[in-house]
Amino acid sequence: MTVEQCVDTLAQNVRGHVLRAGDDEFEAARHVWNGMIDRRPKLIVRCAGAADVVAAVNVAREQKLPLAVRAGGHSAAGNSVCDDGLMIDLSLMKSIRLDPGQRIARAEPGATWAEFDRETQAFGLATTGGVVSTTGIAGLTLGGGIGWLGRTHGLSCDNLLSVDIVTADGRLRTASAHENADLLWAVRGGGGNFGVVTSFEYRLHQVGPTVMAGLLVWPRPMARDALRAFREFTQGAPENASAYAGLGTSPDGVPIVIVVAFHHGPTEEGEAIFAPLRRFGPPVADMIQPMPYVDAQQMLDALNPPGNRVYWKSSVLEGIEDEVLDTIIEGAASCPSPLSATLIEFYGGAINRVGVQDTAYPLRNATYALNAVSAWTDPHHDATNIAWARRMWQSVQAFSPGSVYVNFLGVGDQSDERVKAAYGPNYLRLRQIKATYDPTNLFRLNHNIAPTV
Ligand SMILES: Cc1cc2nc3c(=O)[nH]c(=O)nc-3n(C[C@H](O)[C@H](O)[C@H](O)COP(=O)(O)OP(=O)(O)OC[C@H]3O[C@@H](n4cnc5c(N)ncnc54)[C@H](O)[C@@H]3O)c2cc1C
Repeated sequence: MTVEQCVDTLAQNVRGHVLRAGDDEFEAARHVWNGMIDRRPKLIVRCAGAADVVAAVNVAREQKLPLAVRAGGHSAAGNSVCDDGLMIDLSLMKSIRLDPGQRIARAEPGATWAEFDRETQAFGLATTGGVVSTTGIAGLTLGGGIGWLGRTHGLSCDNLLSVDIVTADGRLRTASAHENADLLWAVRGGGGNFGVVTSFEYRLHQVGPTVMAGLLVWPRPMARDALRAFREFTQGAPENASAYAGLGTSPDGVPIVIVVAFHHGPTEEGEAIFAPLRRFGPPVADMIQPMPYVDAQQMLDALNPPGNRVYWKSSVLEGIEDEVLDTIIEGAASCPSPLSATLIEFYGGAINRVGVQDTAYPLRNATYALNAVSAWTDPHHDATNIAWARRMWQSVQAFSPGSVYVNFLGVGDQSDERVKAAYGPNYLRLRQIKATYDPTNLFRLNHNIAPTV
């Protein structure tokens, strides 16, 4: 079948629409969050429902077309768009249906966390989502899903009760604790390797609606002591409180160190928990305050706009002793772009009470991770900015067990070795399940798990 015939066949059969180069919406649809990614699929199927996904998967398989799956479009590696293949675009599928009594939500894969939070918070409910609300629920949940509620309620994938998923043979299956349980295990951290999820069923929790959250800012020369204060906070923090630390640049070009803080529970408790951090220095800006949970979920959105060129390199850290902090501070000092940041993320709590092999997500012993986030706008500066993130990452390897969160693998960081490091001890079982549901590796434009042969 020619591309024209594929387009015709799909256009006649889908409820959504089919785009190809020259169509009005094609340019906007092929662009994703990371401005480094500039790929042109042969066709984009903007699906309206599971039947459209089945039709698109069947065409891709039968025509042997490279197949990319896009939901929220925030894959830092750019896996959600391909050259010369078929792109399944799920971003129009945004239905979210709640059962507040049972505290369950069913969401389609095109929803972002902002949209999901809006629906669930109307009933005082939430589940763990990412810390930037423009991110898609789909890719984030399938890789694990780390966010402010994680220390209390586990990862997004820990709250995933079931999925509807179109597998490589074009069948729509349900995966739950009772049906295709191996598949549910695999999609709780194994990413997009096993099919296209058309519906996510989540467990919800009572959260907010008011939480304590915000940023603390100190001048960079205070970084060592501020990061020590952050470390002390993490060592005593209850599970309903969390924080990330970051080294970056203020909007007026001044190098700074920040802590982003989050607490849900009684406001007075949050005040008491953050008091020592807020007293330290004091900070030049203290934006911690009571706010709606949906606003706390969006407090980092403006710092992460779409379109910048972004190169990430991440590692789990064994700890954040002084030697680690000094190494990170030294590395951040040579950062070439004011849009970049070095983040120290803090996990633990309920995330780490799940067994390493209970879900595909393996990092159940991680408490801290480093994320060197290079961001810039001019393609001429690619080499310098990429080299900086790599240097920063390299400098902390002596303090890392070598593991990495699969959703933090970015452009050029998808070697077999890195992907294996991300799936850790679950890699072999994932390969076996992959062989059952996708033996020809149709779904390979992702952090790929090769099926066992
Ligand atoms: C600004 C920013 C902030 C982030 N913050 C966090 C955070 O706080 N916590 C965290 O855990 N992660 C975070 N991430 C990482 C994020 O989880 C991943 O980038 C994730 O893949 C994004 O999901 P998406 O649906 O937006 O992306 P997409 O690019 O649409 O999808 C990414 C990949 O997921 C797979 N996929 C997507 N939808 C489906 C589906 N329905 N069925 C099967 N496979 C699918 C595909 O392989 C696809 O290539 C962040 C990323 C960015 C860019």
